Amino acid sequence: MKTSIATVSISGGLADKLHAIAGAGYGGAEIFENDLLSAPESAAEIGRIMAGLGLSCTMFQPFRDLEGMPEPQRGAAFERIKRKFAVMEALGTDLVLLCSNCSPLASADRQAMLDDLHALGELAAAHGKRVAYEALAWGRHVHDHRDAWALVRDVDHPAIGLVLDSFHSLARGVPSASIGDIRPDKLFLVQVADAPFLDMDYLNWSRHFRCMPGQGDFALAEYAAAIARAGYDGWWSLEIFNDRFRMGSASRIARDGHRALLAMDDAAARLLRRPAPMPPRVATTGVAFIEFAASHEEAEDFGRLFHALGFAPVARHRSKDVVRWRQGAINLVVNSEPEGLAHSFDMVHGGSVCAIGLTVADQPAALARAEALGIPRFGQAVGPGEWEIPSLRGVGGSLLYLVDEATREAMWAEEFPHPVAGAPRADLTRIDHVAQSMHYEEFLSWLLYYTALLDVTKTPQLEITDPMGLVTSQAVENADRSLRFTLNGSLAAQSLTARFIQNYFGAGVQHIAFACEDVFAAAERARDAGLPFLEIGPNYYEDIEARFGLEPALVARMAALNILYDRDGEAEYFQFYSRAVAKRVFFEVVERRGYDGYGAANAAIRLNAQARFRDRGEG
Ligand code: MG
Ligand code: MG
Repeated sequence: MKTSIATVSISGGLADKLHAIAGAGYGGAEIFENDLLSAPESAAEIGRIMAGLGLSCTMFQPFRDLEGMPEPQRGAAFERIKRKFAVMEALGTDLVLLCSNCSPLASADRQAMLDDLHALGELAAAHGKRVAYEALAWGRHVHDHRDAWALVRDVDHPAIGLVLDSFHSLARGVPSASIGDIRPDKLFLVQVADAPFLDMDYLNWSRHFRCMPGQGDFALAEYAAAIARAGYDGWWSLEIFNDRFRMGSASRIARDGHRALLAMDDAAARLLRRPAPMPPRVATTGVAFIEFAASHEEAEDFGRLFHALGFAPVARHRSKDVVRWRQGAINLVVNSEPEGLAHSFDMVHGGSVCAIGLTVADQPAALARAEALGIPRFGQAVGPGEWEIPSLRGVGGSLLYLVDEATREAMWAEEFPHPVAGAPRADLTRIDHVAQSMHYEEFLSWLLYYTALLDVTKTPQLEITDPMGLVTSQAVENADRSLRFTLNGSLAAQSLTARFIQNYFGAGVQHIAFACEDVFAAAERARDAGLPFLEIGPNYYEDIEARFGLEPALVARMAALNILYDRDGEAEYFQFYSRAVAKRVFFEVVERRGYDGYGAANAAIRLNAQARFRDRGEG
C-alpha cells in the first residue's frame, strides 16, 4: 500500500510535520497550502526536505472556486492556479486538488462547468500538471462523488481526474458500490478519513471530527475494497481535520494514522478475498492473568482486598518475588521483585496493574500482526528455565502478554511450582472487564491499538457525567465477550478519570470487574470478610425502586450491600464496587442476567460516590 498523509492532519511547523510523517513510515505527504504559507522555508526548500526524507509530494491542496464562476472571478481563478503550478513545480508534485465550487456565485450550468474544467485541463497540461477534482459534501452544486465523476468522465481530458475522499462520500451515505463506475486511470488520488456518526452540518463535522480509519463509524474497509476492486493502485492519503489531533503529539498521530491505513488495507484485502498483507486480527479467548506491580507494603494492601473478595494466594514463582492468586478462572499475579519492569512500574506509578496477559491461539501470528502494525514488542531478560512469554507495549507503558492457549497450564505449573496453602472461595468466576483510563488525547489512539490488533468490535461511544466534567467511554469486546476492555478518556482536568491519571502518573488500569453467578452471596461474603465497599446513598435506591418497579425487599437487600442495578429490556445487571487501593485501582463485581452493557446509567452514581470520598480526603 502506498501511504500518504496531508500535512494538515498533524501538529507543528511544516518541516517538523514532514519529519514525523517520514518517521512513521509513510511514503508521501500532501502539502496543505496553509502549512506552506506559514513555513519559513521556501517551496523549493520544502521540496528538498521531502526528497531528503524519502517522501513523495503526493498532492498540493486545496484550490477552490473555479468551475462555473462568472467573470471576473473566473479569470482571476485561472490566473491564481497558474501561480500554484509554479509552487507545485518547486515542491515536486504535478497534482493539485480542486474542491467542488462552494461559492454562492457558482453557476449550476453543467456545460459551463465542463467548459471550465476542460480549459483548466489544457492549462494544467501546458504546465505539465494534473488536477484532481473533489466533490465536497457541502459543494454548492457538486457534492456527490458520482456527479464529480460524471463531470470528469465527460470532460475527458488527460489532465483532469478525480479525487475520492471517504469523508465526503460516506458522510452523505453515497453507496460505495458506485465507485465501480469510476475508471481507475481517472482516479488520481484517494483521501481517507473516518468520523463518528453525528447529526450536524457537513462542514463542521468534516472540519472538527474526522479521525483515523477505525476510530470512527464509517464502513471504510468496504469503501477501500470498492476502490481496490475498481483497479486503483495509487496513493492512499489520510486527510484528517481534527483540532484535538492538532493539539497532540505529531509523531503519535502520524504513527496512529499509518497503523490505521495498514489495518484498513488488510481488512479490505480480506473482504476482496485477496492475499492479506498481514496475519488476521488476533483471536483471544480472554484474560489469562492480570499482573500487579507492588512493593511488599502495597502487596499487603492488595492482598487484603483480594482476600476479602475470595481470592487466595496459591503459588509462588520459581525464583522471583511473585505470587499467584486465584479464584475461579481468574489469575492475579502480584510482582514485588526489586528490579525489572514491574519494579520500575511501581516506582513510577505506585502499586498498580503493570501487565495483562491475553490468551491467544496463535502466538507467532499475533506477534507478526503486531509487528506489521508497528506495535513495539517488549524484551526483558528471562532467567534460567523461565518461560519467555512475548509481550507488547500497551496502555501507559504497561505490557500486553500473549499467552499461548495450548501451553498455558504448563506455564503456570513450571513458573509457579511452590504451592501456598491458600483456599479460594468460589464466588467470582472470571474477569468480566478491565477498565483503562487515559487522557482524551490518547483515547482514540488506544482504541485503534486494540481494534487493529485484536479481533474485537467497538461499542458505541458514551459520554458519562463525572461530578467535575465529562468522560468519554467506549468498550472493545470479542465475539463471545470473553474479552472486554472499557476505555475512558477525560478532557476535564478535575474529573475523577483525570485525577486517576494524575495519581497514577499516566494512563492505566483503573478498575477490574469480576463476574459472579450470585451477586448477593458474593457481596455478603465480601462484607463478612471485611471488603471496604463503595457506599451508595439512599436516594439511588428510592429512584431505582420507582424507575424499575422493583420489589421493596429486593431493593432493601441491594441497599444493604451497596449493589447497583440496571436493566435493558428483560436483561438485568447487578454490580458493586470496592474502595480504591491507594486512590489508583478499584474492583467491581458484576452479575449479568443476559445483560451486555456496563451499567453506564450507574457510572455517574459511582463517580459521585467516589468523589465524596475524595472530598473527605479518604481517596
Ligand atoms: Mg479531501
Ligand atoms: Mg465497570
